[in-house]
Amino acid sequence: MTDRYFENFMLDFVEEKAKVAGIEEEEEKEEDSLLKLLSTPYPTLSEKLKRAALDLKETVLPSSHYVDVSFLSGRAGVCALGAVVAKHQGNEQMVDYYLNQFKKIKVGEDVPDEIIRGRVGYLWAYLFLNKNLGDGAIPSTHSILGVPHGLAGILYVLMNFELTPDVLVDVKETLKYMINNRFSSGNYPRDEDKRNDELVYWCHGAPGVALTLVKAAKVFKDKEFLEAAEDAAEVVWKRGLLKKVGICHGISGNAYVFLSLYRMTGNVEFLPKANAFACFLLDRAQKLISECQMHGGDTPYSLFEGIGGMAYLFLDMTDPANARFPAHEL
Ligand SMILES: [Zn+2]
Repeated sequence: MTDRYFENFMLDFVEEKAKVAGIEEEEEKEEDSLLKLLSTPYPTLSEKLKRAALDLKETVLPSSHYVDVSFLSGRAGVCALGAVVAKHQGNEQMVDYYLNQFKKIKVGEDVPDEIIRGRVGYLWAYLFLNKNLGDGAIPSTHSILGVPHGLAGILYVLMNFELTPDVLVDVKETLKYMINNRFSSGNYPRDEDKRNDELVYWCHGAPGVALTLVKAAKVFKDKEFLEAAEDAAEVVWKRGLLKKVGICHGISGNAYVFLSLYRMTGNVEFLPKANAFACFLLDRAQKLISECQMHGGDTPYSLFEGIGGMAYLFLDMTDPANARFPAHEL
């Protein structure tokens, strides 16, 4: 199923190389641009990623007229992201602008509860803003929590609550059941019936489960969960350089598996992998999309499926210790 992803030819570690003054232009040009990015010293690369995120914002904003309430694939996410980017720039006027745009979003009665296109997605945007701009940035809202679909997602949410000992046992056993039923490749089936080992997506497959396992390792302090998370990350490294850019089922989302493991373990060996996925996007995503070798997303400017997600990852890469998968990792 290699038509779903690019063969990952990148090394899992590339030494940083400072630009040597006086190097011949010609010599520089010959070097592969991706390789050059991968060896760029982190402060310079971080600046580049930040710049790219801000440029993407210019493309995303005029195009964000989708389903209003959705953080993940619509305007709520774009406004929330705009406000946080403006905060990073120190531009209070733009922070107010995006917050006002956000407040104008109406969550109608007919909006479904689900996370991707529904009111839970709106609630996440609200949490995201208050977390990044300070509590009270957006006044409290009457939000109704729906149920995230998928076992891994449900377990993740459960583990954020204080659970009674019997529920803790159930959660732990269910996690072990998931691990025992993974494919021999290390990837995870999308459900009991669909056991084709094809998808390495946050929404279906190893990446989403990896984030849940990282959380489980934290909650239960159980090595088995951490090892399973690392196994899942290995699948993501091998088969996760997807032909899609977004967060939900694209390269941007998959990069968060390495960032999550880095945060959990403090092991810096995970960082170059996240970096490699981000550099791959920065270097060639736009070109591959224009050549139709990569899918720009059904909602091409959105946070979850489109280049909005890529901008989000780029910004997070400037501060990887605090990076969190949007609308999922708290
Ligand atoms: Zn998806």
